[in-house]
Amino acid sequence: MPTTIYQAFCSAAVRVLQLLILIVCSAVPVLGAPVEGSLPTQWNIGAEDCKASPQPPLQVHAYEPQTFILRQSPCASFEANFLYLLIGSDKALLIDTGAVADPKAMPLAKTILELLPDKDHKKLPLLVAHTHRHLDHRAGDPQFASLPSVQTVPIDLEGVRAFFGFTDWPNGISHLDLGGRIVDVIPTPGHNPTHVAFYDNRTGILFSGDFLLPGRLLIEDAAAYRESAVRVVDFLKTRPLTHILGGHIELDTAGHAYRFGSHYHPNERRLELAREDLTALSAAFDGFNGFYARHRNYILTNTIHNLLLLAIIAVAVLILIVWGVRRLLRRRRSRCAADYSAGR
Ligand SMILES: [Zn+2]
Ligand SMILES: [Zn+2]
Repeated sequence: MPTTIYQAFCSAAVRVLQLLILIVCSAVPVLGAPVEGSLPTQWNIGAEDCKASPQPPLQVHAYEPQTFILRQSPCASFEANFLYLLIGSDKALLIDTGAVADPKAMPLAKTILELLPDKDHKKLPLLVAHTHRHLDHRAGDPQFASLPSVQTVPIDLEGVRAFFGFTDWPNGISHLDLGGRIVDVIPTPGHNPTHVAFYDNRTGILFSGDFLLPGRLLIEDAAAYRESAVRVVDFLKTRPLTHILGGHIELDTAGHAYRFGSHYHPNERRLELAREDLTALSAAFDGFNGFYARHRNYILTNTIHNLLLLAIIAVAVLILIVWGVRRLLRRRRSRCAADYSAGR
């Protein structure tokens, strides 16, 4: 073969090879990179008048074919919880069962069963776990009680520790193997002593429950909460983090919190938070005075302290009123006595 033809042949062959490599690389996801998915910009926001505008109780969103996000309608419960279904090849994991027990009002188990794929002519086994024991995260548990191949993680602290195998709570990480999909369980007490967060190695999502969400972070134990934040930051330092998805949305796009108990979330903010929100959490405790601190995407608050302060203010106001009335009555009485003795 003459040299010029040989060179042209070689460069054409190299170009074809490069093209082939490019096609193969774009078709096969990079090993270890999180599987990509999509999130809606707007969820079901409820209604001003839920009776006049009936809502479907559950909104189901496929983030990717093996990850589902379920949002309970704000009309079904003002808590409007987010629940997550992660599907592996051997098992599925449901994170939280939401705020509504009645299967007629909230057909949760029915919906989950419909989403579960079959394996060996049966539904894939399901593990029902909770971010923590507050009722709005487990009220739907009884719907799963009589179903075959469903296991539910206990809700008390001892049960949680034993099930996940934590021997030095709140230190250590537990791992759930769903079959080709590992989910790490991270203790995150502070909002509640039983709180855990779930890190999904498939999607790179941290499911954070009430530990971190766009809304009110209700603090029961500030020291434990702050330590949890530090531990999660440390755990995620070397891992990809695509999104942080919590249990509720309580802020609008302007950052204002919805009234507690509201069934209507106009201009609702997006669900997802990012790594910066997590890293800012422990620093946000510097400005927390035991009652309130504000971050752009969340509010640190202690409901019990706030209620106690309100109660103290109410008692102080009551004491002032009683003192004022008694003083007034005493003055009148002494004026009457003076009039009487003066013979008026
Ligand atoms: Zn909670
Ligand atoms: Zn909650």
